[in-house]
Amino acid sequence: MAPDTRKFQRAEIVSRNDVGPDLWVVRLRPETRLAFKPGQYATLGVEHNGRMIERAYSICSSPLEDELEFFFELVPGGELTPRLYRLRPGEALWMRRQAKGLFTLDTRSGHTQHLLVATVTGVAPYVSMVRTLAASGSPANLRIVLLHGASRSWEFAYREELESLAQGSGWFHYIPTVSRPWEDPAWRGEVGRVEDVLRKYTDRLGLDPPSTTAYLCGHPQMIEAAKGILKRRGFPKESVREEVYWIPRKAVSPAKQTL
Ligand SMILES: Cc1cc2nc3c(=O)[nH]c(=O)nc-3n(C[C@H](O)[C@H](O)[C@H](O)COP(=O)(O)OP(=O)(O)OC[C@H]3O[C@@H](n4cnc5c(N)ncnc54)[C@H](O)[C@@H]3O)c2cc1C
Repeated sequence: MAPDTRKFQRAEIVSRNDVGPDLWVVRLRPETRLAFKPGQYATLGVEHNGRMIERAYSICSSPLEDELEFFFELVPGGELTPRLYRLRPGEALWMRRQAKGLFTLDTRSGHTQHLLVATVTGVAPYVSMVRTLAASGSPANLRIVLLHGASRSWEFAYREELESLAQGSGWFHYIPTVSRPWEDPAWRGEVGRVEDVLRKYTDRLGLDPPSTTAYLCGHPQMIEAAKGILKRRGFPKESVREEVYWIPRKAVSPAKQTL
């Protein structure tokens, strides 16, 4: 059965950048512009045997850009990512016409500091937020700290862009941290998982609960660990927002697995 074109549209791959063996960035041009807020996600899919296989993907680009950008991780044995991985520029995929999600910068709290924490592709919504803020001029009275974890430094697809935005900027700090430095001997930056260095940076940078909202995005285990650390640091529940990218296999109940 053909996809319902009231709900789905085609989006052409305009460019692709492989940043590692299982990580890649694509830029897409949908038939009609997708309205979204920085931090939201699009639902992308491919048709297989008359069925749409679709998943959520945070949008990296700013709404101010003409194209949409995504940062993918290949999940071996996954239903969709191996199919997305085979797509080349000039080919197209399906995209829902509506962007979704509530993982946007919380401007209602009155907090002046925003601590953005990510593992690998979990940086995607933050790239959109930071690009949008940068394009609108240096935001007054706002401080954004992005703590980004990966196993090795080549997984930081946006490092150059984010470091250059941070340089000389009074409002944006970017801290990449590598958890397997022994596999990346040239790395001279921070080491450890994001959750291992989270407390150190909240203390060092004065990211105190009364003035700070924290955002956690990506790996479910990082999110669980970081929530505990922030709770012990005095962050109330409502000041910690999360975007969990997947449910760990072990946590899926046997009943659900047979569905
Ligand atoms: C709001 C939201 C935004 C997202 N944004 C992104 C994004 O920007 N980039 C991105 O790459 N993914 C993102 N994801 C994850 C994405 O939706 C898919 O879950 C992921 O791409 C795997 O799809 P799949 O069909 O290949 O694997 P599936 O067939 O869905 O999963 C197979 C198994 O792998 C596990 N799994 C899924 N993803 C991973 C992973 N990354 N590492 C290890 N195990 C995993 C699942 O628990 C599952 O048991 C996002 C998810 C959500 C909910």
